[in-house]
Amino acid sequence: MPKKLHTTLVNDTHHSGLRFAKRTYLPRIVGLGTGTFCVGSVMVEHSTPGWLWLLLFFNGFIWPHLAYWKAKRSATPFKSEIHNLQVDAIFGGIWIAVMGFNALPSATIFAMMGMNNISAGGKTLFFRCVIAQITVALALLWIAKLPFLPETTQFQLYLCLPMLMIYPIFLGNVTYRTSRKLAEHKQAIMQISVRDGLTGLYNRRHWESLLQTELESFRRYRHKTTLVLIDIDHFKSINDNYGHSVGDQAIILLAQELQQTMRTADIIGRFGGDEFAAILPHSTKLQAKRATERLQSRLANSLFLLHPELQIHISAGIAECDDAQETPTHWLNAADNALYIAKKNGRNRVEIAG
Ligand code: GH3
Ligand code: MG
Repeated sequence: MPKKLHTTLVNDTHHSGLRFAKRTYLPRIVGLGTGTFCVGSVMVEHSTPGWLWLLLFFNGFIWPHLAYWKAKRSATPFKSEIHNLQVDAIFGGIWIAVMGFNALPSATIFAMMGMNNISAGGKTLFFRCVIAQITVALALLWIAKLPFLPETTQFQLYLCLPMLMIYPIFLGNVTYRTSRKLAEHKQAIMQISVRDGLTGLYNRRHWESLLQTELESFRRYRHKTTLVLIDIDHFKSINDNYGHSVGDQAIILLAQELQQTMRTADIIGRFGGDEFAAILPHSTKLQAKRATERLQSRLANSLFLLHPELQIHISAGIAECDDAQETPTHWLNAADNALYIAKKNGRNRVEIAG
């Protein structure tokens, strides 16, 4: 793999890892903060040693910031954040054992962490964390000979409510925002895949798929449909005399004028280089010719601010769909032949196929 591409990929992975750590930061603050009350409600009713209270305080209020800091500084933030989620699960296991498997707070912690892990890392992370959590809880119960006290008091129930009520809403909001961002990215990728980067018109691949659809529509409904192929005359000399960026401006100008001239239902694409194509549904070859001539006069009136002497001229080939056009390629060839004749006959003209 080329070095530059490799560096770009590494940077992308790093950034997406950082975004993942950032997304997890606030939910962890809220989840572990409210979870502290669940666990504290049980510990307060037993004679809990001071160091366990300190550990609870650390886990609830210091660990979320430490975890984020650790992921942010890591060379592999994504891996570091997955590791943080596993640490969360182990802490969860410790608190479940310390609470003697008290039913409501233990189930609350188990469910909330499970929800978080499945939304962050899918089934694999979920099961990995569940196994870690249960193993730690059972091992501690057995090794430290902790009592098994599953009953939940009313006081403990009330102190579980903040986590039960706030955390799912919070996580739901984070999930919603993430899915909205994904939808926006999907939309942007869709646009990129069908549009030409310079002009915003359809790119050739997508335009050709629409040509196929229009040909099928013609066969079914028999409405007149016409294809126009347009090519800028002596475009190379614009590039040579004024530079590539003025050449680009000429391409953009033609694209804009094409959009202004054609109807919204017309399907306009950039074929590549200085060549454009338009499908005009419900239009005869004469209507298409008139539209193309309108485009020519619009171009004659268009000025380049820095180069007022520069004029764009175009040649166009027109082909109306008929039964001879068995495939999109036949139809395109008919328009291309007409364009060739327009060029051969002196350029700056419109020719109709056949
Ligand atoms: P003709 O009248 O026969 O069409 O002559 P021409 O000079 O226009 O010839 P042709 O259509 O073959 O020229 C296309 C040129 O367009 C070749 C290439 O250098 C240039 N070109 C292709 N893509 C771009 C682009 O994105 N920007 C610019 N500025 N030039 C491009
Ligand atoms: Mg040309």
